Amino acid sequence: MYELASRGLRETSIVNVEGVRFGDGFVLIAGPCAVEDELQIETVARAVSHCGGAMLRAGAYKPRTSPYSFQGMGDRGVELVGAAARRHRLPAVVEGLAIEQLEMLAEHVAMIQIGARNMQNFSLIKAAAQTGKPLLLKRGPAATLDEVLYAAEYALLEGNPNVVLCERGIRSFDPSTRNVFDLAGALRLKELTHLPVIADPSHATGRASLVAPMVLAAAAAGLDGAIIEVHPEPARALSDKEQALDLDQLAALAQALPAIAPPKVALAVGR
Ligand code: PEP
Ligand code: MN
Repeated sequence: MYELASRGLRETSIVNVEGVRFGDGFVLIAGPCAVEDELQIETVARAVSHCGGAMLRAGAYKPRTSPYSFQGMGDRGVELVGAAARRHRLPAVVEGLAIEQLEMLAEHVAMIQIGARNMQNFSLIKAAAQTGKPLLLKRGPAATLDEVLYAAEYALLEGNPNVVLCERGIRSFDPSTRNVFDLAGALRLKELTHLPVIADPSHATGRASLVAPMVLAAAAAGLDGAIIEVHPEPARALSDKEQALDLDQLAALAQALPAIAPPKVALAVGR
């Protein structure tokens, strides 16, 4: 049994990422699939901050299906994301694919992502947990909820309680959406664990037109947040261009969100 991750008698755990509290209101994380250059990440960070987004995302080491696709900027990308995030006072989350990348990530960003392809790379998870940084653990495309929770247990057993889980779509027979967005699975996960659970409708659906409605659905369902891909010019994105929102679409989503998931401060003021 996953003793540390299971809900038991605990309320939802709060995972604090440099002041952003997962498990206490709906957290919107946005940013490009991959950092591509300094101007791109600066433009996106500014837009995320201006629209009230809580955190910046971006990939620097990219786990691409094809070795011929853009592989990310690597270490320099991590520095650029860290610098843009600091300029706009947004904590950043960046994925680590290998143990030797963790030191760089721990130095420059607030949260380390373990991507879907590495959800059962237990040595990577343990090493990431040992950095002491909060972790964003994404569900593998064919992982059961039990497997997600056992993967989280590996991190918790290292003495790092700051783990946020993420539903990012599971593989099925129909490629019409890139994956199948398992919202009910994500909610079931919250019944099984006290850890915060967020959604990634960008990778789950693969289509920009479906991202905002699924973020709103996740908020209405009671998930703890969403992580989405945005790009100043989606058509020119070097990776995942079909699923990126442009900056106007991000602003429109951020404006629609409070009607469904009122910000905590607004609630406190209204009381
Ligand atoms: C990502 O978030 O950039 C990513 C590659 O996601 P996933 O691991 O869910 O495919
Ligand atoms: Mn992507």
